[in-house]
Amino acid sequence: MSPEFRLEQKRQVLADFPGPKSTALAERRKGSVAAGVASSVPVYAADADGGVILDVDGNSFIDLGSGIAVTSVGASEPAVVGAVAEAAGHFTHTCFMVTPYEGYVEVAERLNELTPGGHEKKTVLFNSGAEAVENAVKIARAATGRQAVVVFDHAYHGRTNLTMALTAKAMPYKHGFGPFASEVYRVPMSYPFREENPEMTGKEAAQRAITMIEKQIGADQVAAVLIEPVQGEGGFIVPAEGFLSTVSEWARSKGVVFIADEVQAGFCRTGEWFAVDHEDVVPDIVTMAKGIAGGMPLSAVTGRAELLDAVHGGGLGGTYGGNPVACAAAVAALDVMKEQDLNGKARRIEEIAREVLGPLVGEGVVGELRGRGAMMALELVQPGSKEPNPEAAKSIAAACLKEGVVILTCGTYGNVIRLLPPLVIGEDLLRDGLGVLADAVRSA
Ligand SMILES: *Cc1c(COP(=O)(O)O)cnc(C)c1O
Repeated sequence: MSPEFRLEQKRQVLADFPGPKSTALAERRKGSVAAGVASSVPVYAADADGGVILDVDGNSFIDLGSGIAVTSVGASEPAVVGAVAEAAGHFTHTCFMVTPYEGYVEVAERLNELTPGGHEKKTVLFNSGAEAVENAVKIARAATGRQAVVVFDHAYHGRTNLTMALTAKAMPYKHGFGPFASEVYRVPMSYPFREENPEMTGKEAAQRAITMIEKQIGADQVAAVLIEPVQGEGGFIVPAEGFLSTVSEWARSKGVVFIADEVQAGFCRTGEWFAVDHEDVVPDIVTMAKGIAGGMPLSAVTGRAELLDAVHGGGLGGTYGGNPVACAAAVAALDVMKEQDLNGKARRIEEIAREVLGPLVGEGVVGELRGRGAMMALELVQPGSKEPNPEAAKSIAAACLKEGVVILTCGTYGNVIRLLPPLVIGEDLLRDGLGVLADAVRSA
């Protein structure tokens, strides 16, 4: 499972962590960078490859975050680096809306093929996940002539004005940033660990949401239902089996566009190309970003041809959307995913995570281990209850960092430790990182 990497795959933290160069950069940053941009780690990156990040002082960290599910193929994958250099050597930009180029068309063809369903599809490219989600909503509204958009509790869809409205969590994403876009309606998610009735099936949870939609909005007013098939920032929440399929079947029967936001869960992260594939759900529209292009900024909206083509000419686009260098990176990254069987690697990461972390469940602060593939999480609680324990999540992440492991937290209650390792991480390095995490959890 361990291909050759440019950087030595090891964990090493020097005694003076964070070192003098990172400390000096932090000072410069204080004087120059807006305070509203937070970083979870106090060190500055100098290099990254495979499963490690090197900082400017020579510390080597095991990367269990992938820059938030982005560098699934690694942060300097040779094929991606080569494709970027080759493309940039020809042109960095022409604007697809002015002088189009092949790379954009190639990415569109690939995504039309890869996304679920054998129907005719079309694709449009953008720069960020939020931009993809915004445009999916624009397309659904234009195609249906309806306005309402249904989203779920714990949802995260971005930080732009419309996507803030679609996102559930106030602090830090929405606080003080209103007014928000209208015609956005929130309904209950299926969250098995926190259901009052733990026996509630996915179908029942879906019916609870559907009843609310029909009674409070009216199905014929709804342009789209937008959902993350495995929720990301909200806490790596996997809905009960049958939830997604019931919601999507209802949407189809009512002429409502079912949009799967696969920005975090897509591209082999869960052990399938897309998280909806686990339940054979075929969305009308899929939004993609993060893992798509080996770290280059690119996002996409792919969906039924009749929906994507319902928008008038010139109605979709953007100066940088589908940048040629980012498109070249995406083609290379998609090849790596296939050739190195990153779906298989994600499933293997799940096996190892369950083996190492499974024994912690029910003891101390660990309420649940959940997730799919390389998108696994520990939900932390006050011992003996389900009361969220965000302090434990914070202290565990800090303890891991000191030992040389970068780990991210998430969740509506801030009490979830999430694993998002690069899918190419070597098994020994992964086991070392998870061992550090397990020790930190035990002493929390
Ligand atoms: C990260 C994320 C977004 C927003 O993507 P950006 O590139 O940060 O704008 C949207 N949806 C989901 C599910 C995400 O995880």
